Amino acid sequence: VTPEQSARTVLVTGGGSGIGRAMSIAFAALGDRVVVADLSEETAAKTVAEIQAAGGTATALRVDVSDEESVAAMVAATVSAYGSLDVLCNNAGVLDSMGVLEDISLAEWQRTIGVNLTGVFLVARAALPHLLESKGSIINTASEAGIRGGCGGPSYTASKHGVVGLTRSIAYMYREQGVRANAICPGGVNTNIVQGEMSEQGFGRLAGVLMNAGAMAEPEQMASVAVFLASDAASYVNGAIMPVDGGWFAG
Ligand code: NAD
Repeated sequence: VTPEQSARTVLVTGGGSGIGRAMSIAFAALGDRVVVADLSEETAAKTVAEIQAAGGTATALRVDVSDEESVAAMVAATVSAYGSLDVLCNNAGVLDSMGVLEDISLAEWQRTIGVNLTGVFLVARAALPHLLESKGSIINTASEAGIRGGCGGPSYTASKHGVVGLTRSIAYMYREQGVRANAICPGGVNTNIVQGEMSEQGFGRLAGVLMNAGAMAEPEQMASVAVFLASDAASYVNGAIMPVDGGWFAG
């Protein structure tokens, strides 16, 4: 099998920055064809330029994962560009303000759930027919906040717990059809996710857990785990909710 024949089509949401950028670069380095999708077309194009400069194959797309039509167009464009869809990295996400419950506006709640949870649902659902065809796999980027209550604000925490549940549901429901779904739960990673004001009060209440996170990771330390989960080496790993946090959850 030539590298060209064995190459997979990998779709990465949030591929313009941080963990998604590192995932895109890591899959492209293996010879896979990567669709780098992001709300920011500019940053997606930057990731693609880096991949192409290194001799890889990639395409940039603008997507809003919380918008059903935008998601449908992204998946259609992926399959029309490369003929298949083998690996979905459902990674786009936003942080909330880490506020306390009584301070969270409905708008903040809906934005966080809309991108982090509804977005993962919409993209997985749109990709599924193609993943069934390729017997492909899904890697959802959840969070440490998907497995504990002290790592983020209420909307972020609820959205990521939702991603964990959705991952398990997909894993169980499609296991006999050969589609696997797993989630990684990053601890603290050095990316651009912190934007805007964080709530002082909320942050104060979370301090006990947050201060215990240990050293920050680099995005490449998340990407290598996604590469493993998408590989044949992980053919029996399905429905795993994997902390990638340097031991934070273990403490
Ligand atoms: P990042 O901000 O560097 O990258 C996130 C990317 O997602 C950005 O390029 C952004 O434009 C894109 N995005 C945001 N909303 C979008 C939308 N509606 N549609 C399409 N793209 C959208 O942050 P990151 O840390 O690399 O985040 C990636 C994932 O990792 C997120 O799901 C995040 O919740 C998760 N995560 C991050 C950390 C951390 O410490 N950085 C920890 C746990 C989990």
